[in-house]
Amino acid sequence: MPEPIVQLKNLTKKYGTLTAVDGLNLTVEKGEIVGFLGPNGAGKSTTLRMMLTLIKPTTGEIILFGKNIAQERNAILRQIGCIIEKPDFYLYMSARKNLQIFARMSGTDPTVAKLDEMFELVGLKGRDKDQVRTYSHGMKQRLGIAQTLIHDPELIILDEPTTGLDPQGIIDLRHLILRLKHDFNKTVILSSHILNEVELIADSMTIINNGKAIVQGKVSDLMSHEALIVSAEPVDMDKATQIINASQWQKSLKDVADGKMNFHISKNQIPELSAFLSANGVQLYGLQYRRTLEDYFLKLTHK
Ligand code: ADP
Ligand code: MG
Repeated sequence: MPEPIVQLKNLTKKYGTLTAVDGLNLTVEKGEIVGFLGPNGAGKSTTLRMMLTLIKPTTGEIILFGKNIAQERNAILRQIGCIIEKPDFYLYMSARKNLQIFARMSGTDPTVAKLDEMFELVGLKGRDKDQVRTYSHGMKQRLGIAQTLIHDPELIILDEPTTGLDPQGIIDLRHLILRLKHDFNKTVILSSHILNEVELIADSMTIINNGKAIVQGKVSDLMSHEALIVSAEPVDMDKATQIINASQWQKSLKDVADGKMNFHISKNQIPELSAFLSANGVQLYGLQYRRTLEDYFLKLTHK
């Protein structure tokens, strides 16, 4: 097993009495897209800022590329590209000029071909000579990604990059992040408060709440259709309850709320349940399912 790109060990950050990040452990392997999920205030930005040495941990360790960030700060930072806040540009200069200036600030002098490649990659080819003030929010965001890539970093950190983007902008960004992985073998950490955004492109994810990791794992495992919550809304609840309670389905009935019976079953049991109810004369207004993780995350974000 090659060395992980990122290892956060028992990372903690306190602001006075508030513990913003609380004993966080996280490992990221090379070439992965990692979703870092959590509701607002969960501690995502605080964690990412610590990784970029913008703020100091209270306790715990940050190991990037096998090196302790407290000891080898500069060598490590050269291998990272990030968008932590909205990227800043010189609005009255061309996108190309902006990218050139930024590259020089980070110690590289990109060739014409390299700049062309970047504009092609982020879908801004042909618009590179336009002033940035003429750019849409989505275009600026993609230019921001070009900026993070110009010094050819190994690890790319994007803190809620889809904020404020329109649906097309979100799709474009999603494709771009996937290309970073597939075509350039980059490692990407993507923070978000929207499960769906991460689920679609990430290989693994960590959900944090109140600074603590509460769910960690491979997206394919976490988002499987094995564990579902299936809600049936019967026309006659009394009758439905009687029939369910006198059947094997009673074991899977989790609770009854808002006129709905919530079952914990897998996707392939849904047709069976539906047939059973119908055979016993239980009429339904509807039958819906959602994954347990989705349900859990919704509760977290709507508390
Ligand atoms: P997220 O990025 O997940 O929305 P943050 O990391 O920004 O969450 O914030 C985590 C918690 O730390 C929040 O309660 C926030 O109010 C608090 N916090 C963040 N930055 C500071 C700061 N500079 N001083 C005091 N509290 C802060
Ligand atoms: Mg944040």
